Amino acid sequence: MKSQEAARTEKEKKKKLQIAQEAKEQKEYERIERERSIELNNIQKSRQPVIDNKFGGINFEYNSNKNNHLRAKNDCENHYYNISLENQTCSCDNFKSLNAKFEKFDIRRLCKHQWQIIKDRKLFKKNKNELEDFILENLFWNPSGIFRSRLEDDKEFAIISFYQRKELYVATPKTNKDGYLLVSWDYEKGEWSAKKGGKKVNDQVLQVIAELFDK
Ligand SMILES: [Zn+2]
Repeated sequence: MKSQEAARTEKEKKKKLQIAQEAKEQKEYERIERERSIELNNIQKSRQPVIDNKFGGINFEYNSNKNNHLRAKNDCENHYYNISLENQTCSCDNFKSLNAKFEKFDIRRLCKHQWQIIKDRKLFKKNKNELEDFILENLFWNPSGIFRSRLEDDKEFAIISFYQRKELYVATPKTNKDGYLLVSWDYEKGEWSAKKGGKKVNDQVLQVIAELFDK
């Protein structure tokens, strides 16, 4: 039988090993995150001229749900960054370098921190334009720009670029029904996400993406 002393030493040894393993995993995680962020920055940089020239924003309004606005105000007050949803400002670096140049009530002015609170607290007012409303309701991250065009049948669609994603997203009209679908195009692999729209629509959208980015 092991003495108590031996058992304790064994336990401490195990714990040290576990801590070492966790530190190693954390380091590996940070390395992957760093690489991912460099990759995303490079993709953004290569896209930026097209986005600056051809992509736009969407104008939004706040709704008048008092409770939700109070909750959002509370979120801002307790946030790590200094956020004002009234002035649409944030103290983060991204806001200063990417978003501050846009006018108030243009969604491109919203950094991810403002975007998160507005989405969590459902502060967007319903938009009269169906496509714009779909975009405001269905995007999970703050977009860097939106390109709008029309299909052969005159239905409107939008290509959406995000700061945090390498895929391009497309709000595409449903084939046989009213309404829109959000799908993504993996620009590097050259393939659609599992959830995709009709082939005829996709082919037209792809042609537009190629015209925008392959020149
Ligand atoms: Zn921010």
